[in-house]
Amino acid sequence: MTVVKVMMKEALQTVSDLWSLMVGLNVTKRYFLEPQITVRYPWKEVHNLATFKGHLELVSSKTPGKGKCISCGMCAMACPSNCLTVVKRKAPKPTPEEEQALAEAKAKGEKPKDKTPKDPEKFLYDYTLCSLCGTCMENCPVGALDFTGSAYLAGYTREDFHFDLVQVLKNQAGLEGVDETAAPGAGQSEG
Ligand code: SF4
Ligand code: SF4
Repeated sequence: MTVVKVMMKEALQTVSDLWSLMVGLNVTKRYFLEPQITVRYPWKEVHNLATFKGHLELVSSKTPGKGKCISCGMCAMACPSNCLTVVKRKAPKPTPEEEQALAEAKAKGEKPKDKTPKDPEKFLYDYTLCSLCGTCMENCPVGALDFTGSAYLAGYTREDFHFDLVQVLKNQAGLEGVDETAAPGAGQSEG
């Protein structure tokens, strides 16, 4: 009786396996006969990348090489992967006239106006940690971050994917004193 039960169980398992195989082959047959929608990269590239989410970039303001970012740090606080570091600018050294005006304002009990530029000194981004979740963008009050459409970024080391997005903006604007190693693609290949 036990032997019969074992044989029945094995027979049922065999039927189940064959059914699974048939279902799998049916899916393969269906897709095998459909037109191919993938391309043989790197010999060919896709060009319909409008919805592709590549690494982050700072959105440029009207001033070439400067972004809209106001260094509030909300994006870095919201990032679940800890891949953003916003380095604020230090206050510029006041001129003697400004020092005099500051002293007078203090004597009157007035709060001196902070003239420190709001744009960040550095905006460090570790793409190796980024999950492209978009939380940073959702938490930015001024829309200063966006995804690039860069699908073919590649590199040889982890450091190739550590970017200073401020420097990247400057590089894109072709400003003097650019740091070639800061841009995505430096020491890397894209396509
Ligand atoms: S996309 Fe997500 S993981 Fe990447 S930097 Fe923004 S919040 Fe962090
Ligand atoms: S990118 Fe947006 S959220 Fe992040 S520091 Fe700049 S202004 Fe603030």
